[in-house]
Amino acid sequence: MKKRENVNIKQLLRKNIQKLEPYQVLSEVPAIKLDANENNWLAGCFQERLTEKIKSIPLHQYPDTNCWELRQKLAVANEIKEENVLTGVGSDQIIAWLVQAFIGPEDKVITMSPTFGMYGINTRMAGGKLIEIPLDEELQFQPEIFLKSILEEKPKLVFITNPNNPTGGVIEDHLLNKLLEEIPEDVVIVVDEAYYEFYGKTLANRIAEYQNLIVLRTLSKAYGLAGARVGYALASQVMIDAVSHVKPPYHMSSLDQAAGLVCLDMVSEVKESLVNTVKWRQYLETFFFQLNQQGKDTTLKVFPSYTNFILLKTVHAEGLIEKLKKNEISVRGYGKEGILANSLRVTIGTEAENRKLQQVIEAYYG
Ligand code: PMP
Repeated sequence: MKKRENVNIKQLLRKNIQKLEPYQVLSEVPAIKLDANENNWLAGCFQERLTEKIKSIPLHQYPDTNCWELRQKLAVANEIKEENVLTGVGSDQIIAWLVQAFIGPEDKVITMSPTFGMYGINTRMAGGKLIEIPLDEELQFQPEIFLKSILEEKPKLVFITNPNNPTGGVIEDHLLNKLLEEIPEDVVIVVDEAYYEFYGKTLANRIAEYQNLIVLRTLSKAYGLAGARVGYALASQVMIDAVSHVKPPYHMSSLDQAAGLVCLDMVSEVKESLVNTVKWRQYLETFFFQLNQQGKDTTLKVFPSYTNFILLKTVHAEGLIEKLKKNEISVRGYGKEGILANSLRVTIGTEAENRKLQQVIEAYYG
């Protein structure tokens, strides 16, 4: 029998995929997980109701391919019609569909930088050309350069993240409005509002005016449902129909859909966790700010955040990450190069988690 034990599978990959670095996430779960902008306040919150709901799910059948009930519930929650809602297995899946639907080899995509990595990964997978418009040194959006680049480069797709990850910053309303008005109609504008609930401002109410606009949301952040993978888009019906060209049948499992429904029913729990998260974000912002003011780390910079995380920059980033790791606390680090060199992103945890984080950081600075 002829065996194939030394096949270079990697070489068989498409050329642009060979060069691609897969998105890295933690493979071990630490005691206190503050690296992925999840909502730890809602840990265990949906379990009981979901277990009950699962009893009536016909698991031998394929799921509802249109996610009808879930879309209806999301439509009610957003005061919008069901036909303007598209659900995906995380907003990640919708980002992938958008790129699949609109971007072929050499087509251009414009994003800001730094921002969420999946826009770039999907663009490169499709063989598209990614144009990244840098934020300024304060990690603020540069509207003139962004718009100029769109008008000159004529991309097919533009990703705007508001609030942005990993910076936590936002784009002012009048600047967003100007972008909407000035971006040509043959450019698809994606506004990723994954952290909308912590900020409260949205462009979802503009989708009737701008058929080329698509707003992305997720239940992974404020709603505490990252494990079930439920994301959604709000857009004009023509936009939803266009993107649906690449949607496979039965894309979202019955279990994901059920989890989404249970989660959307727990309005008061979600709201309470939101209030707590914002309160603790302010507490930790003050704590970090004081570390600088008191001279414990004069290099420490705290970026203003409208999300459930805080981005910090300090020459001690590596040491802090190590110290936290030894204490079973994970945060996200960004290495030693580029605009995010020596930065770390800390998700706001529960009260006990935040206090532990504070204690470990205080011990680090001595
Ligand atoms: N967009 C942004 C800006 C994000 O930060 C994330 C998650 N980190 C996503 C999209 C993906 O979220 P989901 O869990 O819905 O796939």
